[in-house]
Amino acid sequence: MALSYWEYKTWFSDVDFTIVGSGITGLSCALELREIYPKAKILILERGAMPQGASTKNAGFACFGSVSELLADLKTHTEEELLNLVEMRVKGLETLRTRLGDAAIGFKKLGGYELFFQNQQELYATCLESVEYINRLLYPLFDEAIFSIKPNIQNFRNIKSQLLFNKEEGELDTGMMMRALVNSAHDNHIQILNNCKVESYEDLGSCVVLKTSQAEFKTRKLFIATNAFAGRLNIAQVKPARNQVLITKPIKDLKLTGTYHLDEGYTYFRTIDNRILLGGGRNLNLTGEQTDSFGTTSQIQQYLEGVLKGTILPGISLEIEHRWSGILGVGDQKHPVLKSLSDNVFCGVRLGGMGIAIGSQVGKKLADLSRH
Ligand SMILES: Cc1cc2nc3c(=O)[nH]c(=O)nc-3n(C[C@H](O)[C@H](O)[C@H](O)COP(=O)(O)OP(=O)(O)OC[C@H]3O[C@@H](n4cnc5c(N)ncnc54)[C@H](O)[C@@H]3O)c2cc1C
Repeated sequence: MALSYWEYKTWFSDVDFTIVGSGITGLSCALELREIYPKAKILILERGAMPQGASTKNAGFACFGSVSELLADLKTHTEEELLNLVEMRVKGLETLRTRLGDAAIGFKKLGGYELFFQNQQELYATCLESVEYINRLLYPLFDEAIFSIKPNIQNFRNIKSQLLFNKEEGELDTGMMMRALVNSAHDNHIQILNNCKVESYEDLGSCVVLKTSQAEFKTRKLFIATNAFAGRLNIAQVKPARNQVLITKPIKDLKLTGTYHLDEGYTYFRTIDNRILLGGGRNLNLTGEQTDSFGTTSQIQQYLEGVLKGTILPGISLEIEHRWSGILGVGDQKHPVLKSLSDNVFCGVRLGGMGIAIGSQVGKKLADLSRH
C-alpha cells in the first residue's frame, strides 16, 4: 500500500535516529538520545502491536545474580569481568528507578532467595561455602555483605533446609514499568510506530536506508535493540532461548513475599496480586527451547506445575489462569553485544535474563555510540 504524501512527510522524512525494537533497551536508548539531542527527530519501530519481545513477558525480578549463577559465571568470566557485569546491573537498576520512580513501576526491595532441591547436595554445599567469598567479591559495589543464609521457614517441600538470601534484590510490576517507559517516550516527543517490522537496512555512508513492512525511508543513524531476534538482522552472536511462564488465579491467604530462584536460575517464582508467577525450566529441553517462536510445551508446563504443587505450595488447592512464553537473547558470554556494525549502525543486544537490571545501561551505552 502506497503511503500518502502526509504520512511520508510526517513520519518518515528527515529522521535523525531510528531505533528498532521498543523493549527496555530500545526505549531507554531513545530517552538517552533525547537528552543528548534535544531537537532531533527520533523514531522507534516496533513489529508488534505492543512491545513483543522479553520486556513485556518477563517475571519482573530486579536481580543481580544468585550465588550459584555468579559461581557459574566465574567459570567463563574473570573476577574483574564479573564485577563489571554486576556493576552494570546495579547502575542500570538505579537509572530505571530514578528515571521512572518506584511508584510508577511498582518497585519493592523485598529480597530474593535461592533454593536448592534435596538432590542438589554438591551444588548446595558449594554455594553455602562460597557465600563469604561472593560477599567479599561484591563488597566494592555494595559496601556490605548482601548474601546471607536463612532457614526454610516457608516450608518449601523437597528443598534443602537452608536458603540463600540476597537483601538487595527487588521486584517490580513489568507492565507498569513498560507503560511508564512508553509514556516517557511520548512525553519526550519520541515517535513509536507499532506493527512496523524492519526487514533490512543498508548503510550508504551519508545515511541508512531502511526497508520496513510499512515504508522504505532514510535515517541518519540506526540503533538495533531487538535482543533475541538480532540474528534475523544478521547479528550472529545472539541465540534465542525461549522461557515459559505460568500464573495462578489469586490464592487465599498467600503469605509468601520476595523473589525465588531454583536450579541455577533456570527456574524462578514470585508472588504478584496474591498469585504465584512461575517460569523457566528450559534446561529440560535446551535444544527445543532454542527458538524465537513463541509457544508453550506440555513437557515444560507439566514440570512447572509439578514445582508449583509439589514444592512451592504443596497441598494447597490452586488453579492456573494463564500461560505464556517470551524469548531471551543469550550467548557464550554474559556481556551484552554493544557495538558499531558500520559508520551509522549500532546494536545493543543479548541481555540474557537480566534485562530489567541492565536494560537502561545498555540503552545508555547504545545511545552513546552515536557520539563516535
Ligand atoms: C519469560 C522471561 C522472564 C524473564 N524474567 C526476567 C526477570 O525477572 N528479570 C530480568 O531482569 N530479566 C528477565 N528476563 C529478561 C528480560 O526480560 C530481557 O533481558 C529484556 O526484556 C530485554 O529487553 P530488550 O529491550 O533488549 O529486548 P526485548 O524486550 O526482547 O525487545 C526487543 C523488541 O524488538 C522488537 N523487534 C524484533 N525484531 C524486530 C524487527 N525486525 N522490526 C521491528 N521490531 C522488532 C520485538 O518485537 C521486541 O519488542 C526475562 C525474559 C523472559 C523471556
